[in-house]
This record gives sequence, structure tokens and C-alpha cells, in this order.
Amino acid sequence: MYIDGACHCGQVRYQAEVDPGEITICHCTDCQRLTGSAYRITITALRENFQITSGDPKEYVKIADNGCRRTQFFCPNCGSPIYTTGELGDAEQVGIRLGTIHQRQELKPRAQFWCSSSLSWAQDLRALPCHDGD
Ligand SMILES: [Zn+2]
Ligand SMILES: [Zn+2]
Repeated sequence: MYIDGACHCGQVRYQAEVDPGEITICHCTDCQRLTGSAYRITITALRENFQITSGDPKEYVKIADNGCRRTQFFCPNCGSPIYTTGELGDAEQVGIRLGTIHQRQELKPRAQFWCSSSLSWAQDLRALPCHDGD
């Protein structure tokens, strides 16, 4: 499936070819901090099928407890997280942040990871009152 996307300010834009089945939610504490939110949603794509079409994302290298390095790319102007990639075998793939994808309404996660650090309410949003706007 073809997708394209952009950061909030529009400076960074990209396009990719993705498998819509490759979408996951991560509840790990790194994802919570890096997004400023409860969890992160990512779609995996082959690096060769992902292109930045405008802008020059800034990089932050996150080092996990196991020593694994992952580079986080974000807009240098508005700070929106755009994508991530790893080293060695992981360098062949990118993880695109769902919220920046224009076609995100058509994409649905297939699994959750790090549920051990999931915020207790995050599994039951339907329990909260729901408003159409703010
Ligand atoms: Zn931006
Ligand atoms: Zn995570």
C-alpha cells in the first residue's frame, strides 16, 4: 500500500510502500517519553521503500538497556516524530510513526508490545466519555 505523510508544520514529508498488516502499538516507557503520550503506534517498512521527499529530519540516538541503538528522526522545526531505524539487521527497516501518515484512518494495529508498562486506563478508552470535538 502506498502511503505518504508529513510532520505537523509540513517541513518534513515522506512517502513509502508498506504492508498494512505491519502496524504495532508499543507501551514501553521509552515510547511513552519519546512521544509524550501513553503509547506509540508504528508501521514497519523496508528502508528501500521509504523516501524523505522534503525536509531534513533531526536525529536522536536512543540506547536501550540491552545496548541496542535506535535512531529517532523528528522534524527540527515542530518536533513531530517521523520515523526510526536501527543498526545491523534493523537498519534494513524503518518504523514510521502512524500519526504522521495521511492514510492513517485506513491503518489498524495488529498487536501490542510491552503491555507490562501499559498505563492502566490505556486498554479501556471506551470507558471514557467521548466528544466529537474539544
Ligand atoms: Zn515539522
Ligand atoms: Zn516502545
